[in-house]
Amino acid sequence: MSSDRQRHTGRLFVISGPSGAGKGTICKRILEDSDPSEITLSVSMTTRVPREGETEGVSYFFTDKENFREKIEEGGFLEYAQVYGNYYGTPKEYVMEKLEAGTDVILEIDIQGALNVKKAYSDAVLIFVLPPSMEVLRKRLTDRHTETEEAINMRLSETLKEMSVMDQYDYCIINDVLDDAVRAAEAVMKAEHSRATEDVCRRLVERYKEELD
Ligand code: ADP
Ligand code: 5GP
Repeated sequence: MSSDRQRHTGRLFVISGPSGAGKGTICKRILEDSDPSEITLSVSMTTRVPREGETEGVSYFFTDKENFREKIEEGGFLEYAQVYGNYYGTPKEYVMEKLEAGTDVILEIDIQGALNVKKAYSDAVLIFVLPPSMEVLRKRLTDRHTETEEAINMRLSETLKEMSVMDQYDYCIINDVLDDAVRAAEAVMKAEHSRATEDVCRRLVERYKEELD
């Protein structure tokens, strides 16, 4: 991305959407297309059991319920939620450090977490990723071979519930052709860097005023 960003702190992007919509695939592509000092993905903590091929500290920090609850007590999460019977949470320290260093952070989290983040950080940008149809969604989940049929049915039935809060998001992207969806997400992120937020405007006025003085 260009060096003319009007910012000092990074922007917080939250990506949600039905399981299998392609959130992980889109995030992976965004990260491949950018420098780690510009954009990073927050690694969540979960009590879910690891799937085949998942790596500790890369896919998730895997832990047990006791340790997760301790971290809640310590205030160690930016947000956390129970999804499909397991706990998931965003470790606060990493996100805050990165934002302060001027790096954008992407959270790939569920709708409850996303709406909680927006409540606490109104500048957070919420992006909802949708599959082109329910039929395609089922096929993607089946072909991914990571879930049982029962789990797939549970995730599909959650989709409409998740979509019912989509109007509280800032953007929604239909992931039909992957390249188009990635381009749309990158365009959103680029445009958000030109948003006249209170923080950006204040800092710009300060900078120009200092120059004049
Ligand atoms: P999510 O992270 O939302 O659960 P994934 O990124 O794991 O979803 O994608 C689900 C499956 O669909 C994966 O196997 C992925 O390779 C595939 N997939 C993602 N986006 C597309 C796309 N635009 N076209 C075809 N397959 C896709
Ligand atoms: P999965 O088990 O498929 O990896 O994730 C299930 C759901 O949990 C997805 O909707 C995913 O976005 C969400 N999720 C992953 N990490 C977090 C997190 O840290 N917080 C919240 N609230 N949801 C998360």
